[in-house]
Amino acid sequence: MNAEPTTLVDSYERAFPYLRLSITDVCNFRCEYCLPNGYSCDSKPKFLTLDEIRRLVTAFAGLGVWKIRLTGGEPSVRKDFPEIINLVSQIPGIENMAFTTNGYRLLANAQKWYDEGMRNLNVSIDSLNREMFHKITDHDRLDDVLAGVEKALTIGYEAVKINVVLLRGLNDDALDSFLDYVKQRPVTVRFIELMQTGDNLEYFKKRHLSADILREQLLQKGWVENIHVNGAGPAVNFTHPDYQGSIGLIAPYSKDFCLGCNRLRITSTGDLRLCLFGEIGIPLRDLLQRDDQIQELQTRVLKQLNYKKSSHFLDQGLTGLLPNLSSTGG
Ligand code: SAM
Ligand code: SF4
Repeated sequence: MNAEPTTLVDSYERAFPYLRLSITDVCNFRCEYCLPNGYSCDSKPKFLTLDEIRRLVTAFAGLGVWKIRLTGGEPSVRKDFPEIINLVSQIPGIENMAFTTNGYRLLANAQKWYDEGMRNLNVSIDSLNREMFHKITDHDRLDDVLAGVEKALTIGYEAVKINVVLLRGLNDDALDSFLDYVKQRPVTVRFIELMQTGDNLEYFKKRHLSADILREQLLQKGWVENIHVNGAGPAVNFTHPDYQGSIGLIAPYSKDFCLGCNRLRITSTGDLRLCLFGEIGIPLRDLLQRDDQIQELQTRVLKQLNYKKSSHFLDQGLTGLLPNLSSTGG
């Protein structure tokens, strides 16, 4: 971990050493809660180029960001994804680079991405039941995705996490299957409460379930809640001496969730989002065109950080600019 404190601190004294960078909106899956009708776009979007990504990450690293997550959409649909990994891994100050993927291309590419410098990954697997996985994602690819995770573990990725969006009536009975899965594998399975977005209100009402239900079950089964470290992000983690892996719960509707916020986001076209559910996107792209603009870019980011709000106000049904998570980068 970086000993240098980040200069990115907001008016609520939260520090932001972590940047989530979306590199594309495009996705090849149709997850029911995210892109039920698949990806579509009226005109060809112009996602950040390699040079723009280099300048952006260099500027944030200069402000004390040491952790980057590449996300999307599906980041691996970009043909230059290996080059992006290589580029970001070499930027001074970036000590931890991760990415979030639906796992579609993991089996074929895990080695290449590792060789380019990737060490940490989150794979989204909402069910270990093949039919249910197919229903939720519209892709009958569970076996391939699981084989990709095995491959990543064999190669030696340092942190392998599985994201599970908790869905009432679909996978709310899946805890035991995931506990079996982590018994012999050093994998963290993180259950994420379904979030309301601009596009999914009806789905949200039908499928949202509080993660409290899993917390109770874990405690009953002898899992222990780890002490939460300040600035470690919003997940609450549980461990058990008989299991190699661990379980995390991410409950955005819980009280004080935003107190632990440690991340800023950049959209695939270069807007800064102070919050996933924020009302405004702050364009940065005009300051990503030349290497001599980096200082001006840093000044703009620092100024805007003062406007970061204390909370997402999701409990009041406010979803800001977010139509779905693929559009801002989940
Ligand atoms: N396509 C990649 C994937 O699915 O892993 C990366 C982008 S996806 C938007 C990032 C994460 O957000 C995934 O784990 C996904 O399950 C989660 N996600 C998407 N929509 C969500 C929602 N409405 N509520 C909670 N999590 C959501
Ligand atoms: Fe695609 Fe990820 Fe959204 Fe699923 S959750 S549709 S894989 S962006």
